[in-house]
Amino acid sequence: MKLLITGGAGFIGSNFIIYMLNKYPGYRIVNVDALTYAGNLESLTSVENHPNYTFVKADITDKDVMDTVFEQGVDVVVNFAAESHVDRSILEPEAFVRTNVLGTQVLLNAAKRSGVKKFIQVSTDEVYGTLGETGLFTEETPLAPNSPYSASKASGDLLVRAYHETFGLPVNITRCSNNYGSYQFPEKLIPLMIANALCDKPLPLYGDGLQIRDWLHVEDHCSAIDLVIHEGVTGEVYNIGGNNERSNVHIVKTILEQLGKPESLIKYVEDRLGHDRRYGIDATKITTELGWKPKHTFETGINETIDWYLNNRTWWERIQSGAYQTYYEQQYGKR
Ligand code: NAD
Repeated sequence: MKLLITGGAGFIGSNFIIYMLNKYPGYRIVNVDALTYAGNLESLTSVENHPNYTFVKADITDKDVMDTVFEQGVDVVVNFAAESHVDRSILEPEAFVRTNVLGTQVLLNAAKRSGVKKFIQVSTDEVYGTLGETGLFTEETPLAPNSPYSASKASGDLLVRAYHETFGLPVNITRCSNNYGSYQFPEKLIPLMIANALCDKPLPLYGDGLQIRDWLHVEDHCSAIDLVIHEGVTGEVYNIGGNNERSNVHIVKTILEQLGKPESLIKYVEDRLGHDRRYGIDATKITTELGWKPKHTFETGINETIDWYLNNRTWWERIQSGAYQTYYEQQYGKR
């Protein structure tokens, strides 16, 4: 089996490559990544010399390069490549449309031409919009994205659907909740708060901090995608969630407690524009139809994740300079 993984130098993609090469050392993996600010090959040092792993630095919107990559033979595509941070999409939406919409279409076309066995689009629960205090997103929930990020992901999903309906491309779309775990870029809630707490810097928390997210351990997400590759019914959408709804303030307090830092480090900042209040995933379909079961509980997963950032300071400290620093200052002011 030859897998084309796009965005494999990012948080989930790098975890997925490591997961797959450990589980299926005979599979060949080609990682195509443009190495934007969010791509980091240091996350893949454990597999960089694996005989079945190849890295190609390329942009998924580059049609000629993508056609060449597919001409080498690809069985399954897993499209992780994306601009993924909601705050950045509010500041600069263009890059989101380019990568998440146009990039997806370029990949779909190359996949159609080369006749792949499966195209998996890694999407997000954010395409469903926001929930009130009750209810969960199912695969039938209408798309109602609220941010430029989620709108671009929903647009990518619709193109994936259209390539299935129009051209019969064998596709699956997976929509997951917030991932956490190792190698997550420290602009996202959990690594940002851990890194700031470790440096005794203020922890910027949006609005009242009572926004609710469902948290999914990245390894559980990887095992779900593995199942969808092998067992997913063509054309189907699968929601993937951790059944771990927590408010942002709860997450931040958990981190502070685990690190033995005071709650006075929390700094409430003006809320994100159009901030969705609550996401919650109903993962019944993938659980009952494909037999997926998450391994991690949130309580052990979050503590292991905090330990990982404690033990891998060099990894995130290197990132916290240069381009990331400029963005951070624009977003939250000088530290
Ligand atoms: P990430 O930002 O950590 O990684 C994205 C990767 O894509 C980076 O390595 C980047 O260099 C690469 N990339 C960006 N533009 C590219 C382009 N034009 N061509 C080639 N490569 C490009 O993202 P992530 O958190 O790992 O998310 C992976 C996928 O999962 C995304 O599609 C995202 O929408 C989805 N998702 C993530 C979460 C989450 O909690 N992290 C939740 C739901 C869905």
